[in-house]
Amino acid sequence: MTTVAFLGLGAIGRPMARRVAEAGFDLTVWNRSAARTRDFVASVKARAADTPAQAVKGAQVVITCLSTSHNVAELLDGPDGLLAELASGTLFVDCTSGDPATSARIAARLAERGVAFIDAPVSGGTSGAEKGILTVMVGGDEAALDRARPVLESFGKKIVHCGAVGAGDAVKAMNNAMLAIHVWSTGECLTALAQLGVDPAVALSVINASSGRSNTSENLFPERVLTRAFPRTFRLALLDKDIGIAAGVARDQKVPSPILQLAAELFHMAHAELGEEADHVEAVKIIEHLAGREIA
Ligand code: NDP
Repeated sequence: MTTVAFLGLGAIGRPMARRVAEAGFDLTVWNRSAARTRDFVASVKARAADTPAQAVKGAQVVITCLSTSHNVAELLDGPDGLLAELASGTLFVDCTSGDPATSARIAARLAERGVAFIDAPVSGGTSGAEKGILTVMVGGDEAALDRARPVLESFGKKIVHCGAVGAGDAVKAMNNAMLAIHVWSTGECLTALAQLGVDPAVALSVINASSGRSNTSENLFPERVLTRAFPRTFRLALLDKDIGIAAGVARDQKVPSPILQLAAELFHMAHAELGEEADHVEAVKIIEHLAGREIA
């Protein structure tokens, strides 16, 4: 039986790790806040580790799902760090929505130890993780992806090789940049329509049968904005991080990207204004505040 270590039991890491255990893998988990580790092993068949080093000892596949690539890089060193116990031949799968340059640096350090690295960020949200239907976008060696596939299939439905190390991160960042732009533009359009006296539900029923529609207009706005429910499933702080990565990739590639750069600034401002715990869809509250009215 393949032994798996899963590090990072946040909003999406928890249901992903649960799927790994339920698929029958021999699982050890670690989380920075030990309370989350304890809660997890209370209801899932997995061992709790006290340190990253302890978690990866004897593991054949190591999965990380932390906030940023920088957080993953920080876990490598020190007496309790991953490198203290990672054995040659281990496969390292980073499901963090990371940044390509840091992933490349992590991959190079692991390669010195005979450990293969793939970046494998996911999309589909916490509900997709619970159902095991995430999309997994992978950068790195295809042979390494083939080795990872049985574990990835426990939480992923569509698993796509995107290119060399960092390519998965880059695709994920661009996808989320488009999400951010949809959230902001839909917020501006619906606030203006509401101010004009058009019922936002009526406006959305037209838009969702027309060419302006998106997942944001079809799902996020009806379920979260019109209801004022704003459930907290994906932190605005993380979307700010993602669109910052996307804007950086476009700049590095010397591609003119005024929309990406502006959206990165807007989400940075919204994050600063609304704080660490706000959900990404709550960014529309900034537009509402500036307009002096709510959409619904
Ligand atoms: P959360 O904010 O819910 O959890 C973050 C996780 O990272 C926690 O386990 C946290 O530990 C850990 N962490 C943060 N900083 C450090 C650090 N310095 N050292 C060690 N551990 C650290 O995030 P999510 O679970 O929502 O997201 C995880 C990744 O998945 C992110 O890159 C995100 O962009 C991506 N993602 C999230 C989606 C979602 O719907 N939530 C969808 C798709 C991708 P602790 O518990 O101690 O704080």
